[in-house]
Amino acid sequence: MRAGVVTPGVKDSYRVLEMPAPEAEGKVLFRPDLIGICGTDQEIVAGLYGEAPPGEDVLILGHEVLGTVLEVPAGSRLKAGDRVVPIVRRPCDHCHPCALGQWDQCQSGDYTERGIKGRHGSLSERAAASEPFLVRIAAEVGDSGVLVEPGSVVAKAWRQATLAQRRLPWVPRRALVTGAGPIGLLAALLLTQQGLAVTVMDQVSAQSGRAEAARALGAAYAEGSAGLAKGTAFDLVIEATGFSPLVFEAAAWLAPGGAMVLTGVTGGHREVEEDTNQFNQRMVLQNQLMVGSVNAGREDYESAVAMLERAAKDHPGWSQALITRRVSLAEFPDGLLHQPDDIKVVVSVGSA
Ligand SMILES: [Zn+2]
Ligand SMILES: [Zn+2]
Repeated sequence: MRAGVVTPGVKDSYRVLEMPAPEAEGKVLFRPDLIGICGTDQEIVAGLYGEAPPGEDVLILGHEVLGTVLEVPAGSRLKAGDRVVPIVRRPCDHCHPCALGQWDQCQSGDYTERGIKGRHGSLSERAAASEPFLVRIAAEVGDSGVLVEPGSVVAKAWRQATLAQRRLPWVPRRALVTGAGPIGLLAALLLTQQGLAVTVMDQVSAQSGRAEAARALGAAYAEGSAGLAKGTAFDLVIEATGFSPLVFEAAAWLAPGGAMVLTGVTGGHREVEEDTNQFNQRMVLQNQLMVGSVNAGREDYESAVAMLERAAKDHPGWSQALITRRVSLAEFPDGLLHQPDDIKVVVSVGSA
């Protein structure tokens, strides 16, 4: 089978290789249809991140996956033709959260991740996964099932915020999402579904497709911090840019008792000057909270599926419209190059 691979640690080593079909004994064999491309893929292709499975030189990419089941083992609750999304992370075998099935909270760092760390992904003509690590997608979700994985990141961020905010009487009304990429827009979707008044902030023009997608949900769009109404305070901030100076800037917009969830990262180093006394004062005197959130558990994938099912009814075509470009397996590197109108670029694995 053809597969899109890199040699981890080697810059621009992406190529399409003929690879052996996956070992499917006792597993569900599926055909990857669409694979989303994101910043993690960019880092792996740049040689900054990524790890091949033990004993192998190459890593098959592809962690944001929508597939169709081909064959199931005896006793499976899935059947051929079902559309599925594989869960990215697998637990380590020696930490407490992983032992409890909360691999997204792994504390040893020894987890593996499909298409990222120590485990092949699904950027290939065939893939296999054990059934507990597959989530079934309703037919009406269609191709936007490829957004379940980024959606699960958002669902976990919301779950973390609501769990942590049980520390006080918290009735969130206003939310700010920083970043209008796929994660930010899916966060806006989830938060509007929760009944919050949402503002999405990004640098892109208020006439851009991203701003349009935010407004289509009933969210407000702010072009940079200058676009925010003066004095507005938010009960919840979801930071989805990974631009670290914004973490400090956005902390100043939190309401008393408010929470900020950080979901993005940028590699390397950045130094900025900050009034840390002011930052500390606000956090202490207003009982504020900041929490980091990475990856997602099974329940978050299921929440993401429910979110996209509801979106298909409330806003038909909205989530499909986030998929702005499709490339073939061979064109994957073009998919990494950002074009002005891109929101989510996906690989259509079957296309020539
Ligand atoms: Zn991703
Ligand atoms: Zn662990």
